[in-house]
Amino acid sequence: MPEGTLSVVGIGPGDGAHATPAALAAIREAEVVVGYRTYIQLVRHLLDGKEVVQTGMTEEIGRARSAVERARAGARVVLVSSGDAGVYGMAGLVFEVLREIGWKRGDSPELRLIPGITAASSCASRVGAPLVHDSCTISLSDLLTPWATIAKRIEAAASADFVISLYNPASGRRTRQIVEAQSIIRRYREGTTPVALVKGAYREGEKVVLTDLDHLLDYEIGMLTTVIVGSSQTFMFEGYMVTPRGYTRKYTFDGEVLPGQRPGRSLVVAEEG
Ligand code: SAH
Repeated sequence: MPEGTLSVVGIGPGDGAHATPAALAAIREAEVVVGYRTYIQLVRHLLDGKEVVQTGMTEEIGRARSAVERARAGARVVLVSSGDAGVYGMAGLVFEVLREIGWKRGDSPELRLIPGITAASSCASRVGAPLVHDSCTISLSDLLTPWATIAKRIEAAASADFVISLYNPASGRRTRQIVEAQSIIRRYREGTTPVALVKGAYREGEKVVLTDLDHLLDYEIGMLTTVIVGSSQTFMFEGYMVTPRGYTRKYTFDGEVLPGQRPGRSLVVAEEG
């Protein structure tokens, strides 16, 4: 059997400037490009002369299977995802299909995994520096995950003071999850905690709202929105949302080490009483 390749490619948030050269090269060299309609549209200028397989949102398994089959038969196939294909993207499903058909390393197709800028990073860059300290991502989609599991993760992240990037916060039919997420997080954080709502970052029609935990539900939140909820340390400055790394716990702005601290050593904290 001829050696085919299957490249699983993240194209970043939307515009060409934020897709990596490696992602664009993989698409240019492909014979077959498979992906959800919206993502295919985002790279349409690269698709001349290629076979393009566009599919709808609910056809993921079929899309992954057809990509694998075509590559196995010898074609250079690219499967495109938005953001990073390995973050709530098609990469996981590709591995499940490969496992299902008994594929082994060294078999056709050769696999290539090409990273992209995930929504948390692209959206963060639109509002400041909210992810500079520990953060996590949680998808609010309960289409494939029980809501009880999602709620438990929100609670754990909120109680441990992570900055939280919520993917898939809502859709036309799914509107309850963001309401419940807000109320879970509110039990652990002040109502004034900064929150960013970024819709379609780096795409046409991009919309950015900076608000707080008590008011986030006053705004439109949909399928293209990522919601970034600050931690107890996150602050607003000149219209930017910032989570500090912690430098000022140890140093003054003149570079002096604060009393009781030592550079390169663990932060010394007062006993909590
Ligand atoms: N693989 C993608 C995530 C797919 S899940 C990635 O790594 O970014 C789909 C969710 O991602 C959307 O509901 C939204 O929450 C987020 N998202 C994807 N692209 C976005 C963009 N350009 N702007 C804001 N959010 C985006």
